[in-house]
Formats: sequence, structure tokens, C-alpha cells
Amino acid sequence: MAGLDMIRSYLSESEDSDTQDDSKINRDKISSSAKNLLQRFSVPESILSLKGTKHHEDVHDDPSQHDGRTRTFKHERGNWATLVYINYPDYSPICSWLRELPQQIGIKEVLNFFTEFHLSLTRCLVLKFHWIESFVDSLQKLCQSTGEILVEFRDLKVYCNEERTRTFLGLRCEDRNKILKQFVINIDKILAEYQLPSFYEDASFHVSILWCLGDVKEKLNASLPALNESWNSICAEHFLHSFEVSKINCKIGNKMYTFPLK
Ligand code: AMP
Repeated sequence: MAGLDMIRSYLSESEDSDTQDDSKINRDKISSSAKNLLQRFSVPESILSLKGTKHHEDVHDDPSQHDGRTRTFKHERGNWATLVYINYPDYSPICSWLRELPQQIGIKEVLNFFTEFHLSLTRCLVLKFHWIESFVDSLQKLCQSTGEILVEFRDLKVYCNEERTRTFLGLRCEDRNKILKQFVINIDKILAEYQLPSFYEDASFHVSILWCLGDVKEKLNASLPALNESWNSICAEHFLHSFEVSKINCKIGNKMYTFPLK
């Protein structure tokens, strides 16, 4: 779960930074009583101001804490990592199929398999705290005016993130009525109000099933014919051709919102 596990790793570090918050509060208390004390001895303001703390604290990104992935945006207090997506709940046949895949892929890179699956409808966004309420409200209204969607699985496709630091194998998805495409256009209109980036111009809807570090697009592409053959037989065996979408999920920080479609 690319966007989603990015939010998780972002959150685990926000928790660290919350602990840092407590020590910062203590530091601030100490520095404010020291300030009072020093003022009594009339120390010049210019010297006192040397002990200022930063308003925003950047948190050091340690890739070893999250399978070598690097963050694509800086952790800053007041920023909330956000993703709008569709949950794909029928994961057990896919998980068992994934266990057989390493032999068919045969690359030296470590393959990381997702155990929960989603279809992203936005990029991983950064929302300011004071935007959350109105953003959630607009998204809810949009969902209330959008009918249910039937998503069909197509072939497997290889994707890279924009920084080319991770490669993903995804199940390409389409909906015959093109509701999904219009829905994303409407989400993009909401995002534009906050000057947030829209979804990919050449949007290719997919459910990622595995990822590995680096840009190994070419190597994975070489395995695609065999992988597609294998996927087609699993699809037929477990009737995995399509799934109905009746609700949309939105994860903002550690909060999950679920909006039913019309
Ligand atoms: P996801 O599983 O939805 O997080 O997507 C995995 C990766 O696919 C993301 O890092 C996206 O940047 C990447 N990606 C590359 N090209 C596209 C595209 N045309 N449409 C959607 N996602 C894309």
C-alpha cells in the first residue's frame, strides 16, 4: 500500500515528534523561567533571543525505519498526509497468489508484498490542519452525488513513483462507464481550491500488489507476459474480474473517513 504506508510511516514519526513536543514544552517552560530570572538581572534582549526555538521542526527522515523508503515530502507540524482511495477488500486469493510470485519474477531486488489493497484516487497529499473540515465536507458532498462504480481488473502493469525510488506491480483497473475518471476530475477540482496537486494527467487506475526499491521497471516488464498469464488463471479460478465500489475512503493523518456513494 504505497500511499497508505507512506502515511503510516509519516505518522509513526509524528508520534516521535509528539514526544519531542513534550520535551519541547518542558524546554520552553525552563527557558521561560530562565528568561524571567535573567530579565531581573537585566540581560540584554539580544542575548536572550539567541535561545529561540524553531516554529516548525523538520523531522530527520530515517529510511532504515521503513524498509528503505525515503519520504517524498518533509514532515512538518500542521501538515497532514492525506490519501483518497477505494478499498479492495477481497484480498485473500491475491495474497495466496502473491506467495507463488517470487519464482516467476526472478529478480535480485527484495520484493515487498502488500497485505491490504487499495486503488488511489489522489496522490499522497499534504493538507493543512485548518483545511481538513471543509475538505472532508466537499468530498462527502461529491460522494453523495456520485453513483456506485463497477471496477474491472485488467492486466498487470509496472509503475514507478515520481522520484523513481520505488517500483510497483499493479493490477490495472477500469470502469466501463468512466465514472471513476469523472470522479477524479471532480476531486481534482476540490484539490485546486487548496492549490493541491491533481491526480496524474495520464491517470492509470490500479491496485498495487508488490513493490521494491529503486527503478526496476525494465526488469519487471520482462516478467510481465508470464505474470499476466498467471494472473489470468487466478482471476478465472476465483472470479476476481471486477468489484463493486459503494464507498470511498479518505485517510487524513491517523483519521479514516468513509463516505458512501449515492
Ligand atoms: P499507489 O499504489 O496508488 O500508491 O501507486 C503506486 C505508484 O504508482 C505511485 O507512487 C504513483 O506515483 C505511481 N504512478 C506512476 N504513474 C502513474 C499513473 N499514470 N497513474 C497512477 N499512478 C501512477
